[in-house]
Amino acid sequence: MEKIVNLCKRRGFIFQASEIYGGLNGAWDYGPLGVELKRNLKNYWWRVIVHERDDVVGMDGAILTHPAVLKASGHVQGFTDPMVDCRLTNQRFKADQIPWQSGTVFTYEFARDAMPSAAAFEALAYLAETEAQPQINKKLDLSDSISLGLRIVERRRLSVPAPTKEPESIESFFLALGTELVRNPQPGWEEWENRFQSGYSVPERALCGDSFRVLVRARESESKARKTAQAFYQKRGLRLPVVILQSKQPIENTRDFNPENGAELTPPRAFNLMLETHLGAVADEASKVYLRPETAQSIFVQFKNILEVSRKKLPFGIAQIGKAFRNEINPRNFTFRSREFEQMELEYFCRPEQGMELLEYWKEERLKFYDDIGISRSKLHVRNVPDEERAFYSKGTYDIEYDFPFGRQELEGVAYRTDYDLKQHQHASDKSLEYFDDETKEKFIPHVVEPSAGVDRTVLALICEAYSEDQAPNDKGEMEARTVLRFHPRMAPIKCAIFPLLKNKEPLVVKAKEIVGLLRPHMTVFYDESGAIGRRYRRQDEIERDSMKQERVKTSDLLQLLSMRIA
Ligand code: ATP
Repeated sequence: MEKIVNLCKRRGFIFQASEIYGGLNGAWDYGPLGVELKRNLKNYWWRVIVHERDDVVGMDGAILTHPAVLKASGHVQGFTDPMVDCRLTNQRFKADQIPWQSGTVFTYEFARDAMPSAAAFEALAYLAETEAQPQINKKLDLSDSISLGLRIVERRRLSVPAPTKEPESIESFFLALGTELVRNPQPGWEEWENRFQSGYSVPERALCGDSFRVLVRARESESKARKTAQAFYQKRGLRLPVVILQSKQPIENTRDFNPENGAELTPPRAFNLMLETHLGAVADEASKVYLRPETAQSIFVQFKNILEVSRKKLPFGIAQIGKAFRNEINPRNFTFRSREFEQMELEYFCRPEQGMELLEYWKEERLKFYDDIGISRSKLHVRNVPDEERAFYSKGTYDIEYDFPFGRQELEGVAYRTDYDLKQHQHASDKSLEYFDDETKEKFIPHVVEPSAGVDRTVLALICEAYSEDQAPNDKGEMEARTVLRFHPRMAPIKCAIFPLLKNKEPLVVKAKEIVGLLRPHMTVFYDESGAIGRRYRRQDEIERDSMKQERVKTSDLLQLLSMRIA
């Protein structure tokens, strides 16, 4: 993945948004090649879904959305991700993305600070002092208090062994010191001896009463649990936490712990993913609007208008490509999970009894689409989303997943959403969204099947799929490692590169430019006359060339030949 991210930046496919200011998390800019690739994808989707069909029309809706729309659709109430925080690092995760883990749970009841209290420190300072008045107004310091303690032990010849660096050992040292001092008082010092012992008693020291759990997985050491717990209590203000273990229990298949450090996670909380802004001069509740979290809702809201103007009969669809925004908890895996992204959505309206059949139909159509753009079937997987994971109104959903370098992840969802959306909007707006069937004279709310694909995720899949490394001869004929993006010609950002062999040979340059003129109206071409020819080839290889095969064709046949191969 790292190689792919680097190549994307180096060759101008994808850059981090606002990069020179340190980047904006979850937003990406597409460079000269990336924008071509993205357009090829969107144009091809539009061609297959809208232009080549009689039963689908397009629309382009506004991003700014009236809150009422998203209230009716359920997004204001329910477009939430259950979110959990690591109690140690405060890292935030989506609860359903925590892997199931097994191991032993260490439960810590509380912790107390092994650092002497201010009163105990003061007593130590007096007891250790021989001549002058002790300096006790400086900040309480661990190494100072230990060396003061050791000085007293040495001077009074007490049998208290020196501590290690562990809080438990330091605590034992001071506790033993207190006991010994009280047991062997020195005339005139009783007050300070007693003050030290009571100043170091548990109630006088700092304490954190929060309980905390750590998961220790097989092959991890037990001391890891204690260190993690110490770090937790340190964050809560204890300088030298002595952690109190309450229990140790085996556990199977839990999602309660941070997979990275074993620390306990908070219980899931609902976090709304919608981004909002305000229209007009006053930023109050009345001026609030949302940036749409999906393109689909504007299709439902315009259903009646489009039905009337297009005069379509069921089944028919409305398609849209456009931006959507989600305040994802942790954007990651390059563009895979972004906060601003594009969707390609089709809402295909039908009679209720056609829903399940059309769900199968659209799943197959969409798989064919991926095949047509060069994504291998062997890397695609159809997941039949089980009842408990599906939206309550959906009677069937397929996730089309792709084997990304970072794992198998959703590219597209194909969902049978029943009549839920139109019903909700009809109810909330009090405007009829019914369909009238001329033949049967029935009036009803159509059902809908929705294939919803992500533009950015598909672009990423195209790049991952195209990426390959092989060996090719360099200028001197020596074999060298070569990076090649083997895009399907239909998706390739540049269809044809034109290089005159030498730039100072007038006839070669004239001919090459003539070919540029011939092809440019029909495809994206790239002309380059500078530098060694081998290097010019290699620069193109990296962005898209499959083989180094040479073929000679007549200039007059060129356009037809290339067009055929691209289509
Ligand atoms: P996920 O479970 O991965 O968050 P989702 O099931 O919420 O996705 P849908 O609401 O079904 O996604 O959206 C349809 C499509 O939109 C997804 O299949 C995906 O391709 C795209 N998409 C959704 N969220 C994002 C995102 N944050 N970044 C990029 N693409 C996204």
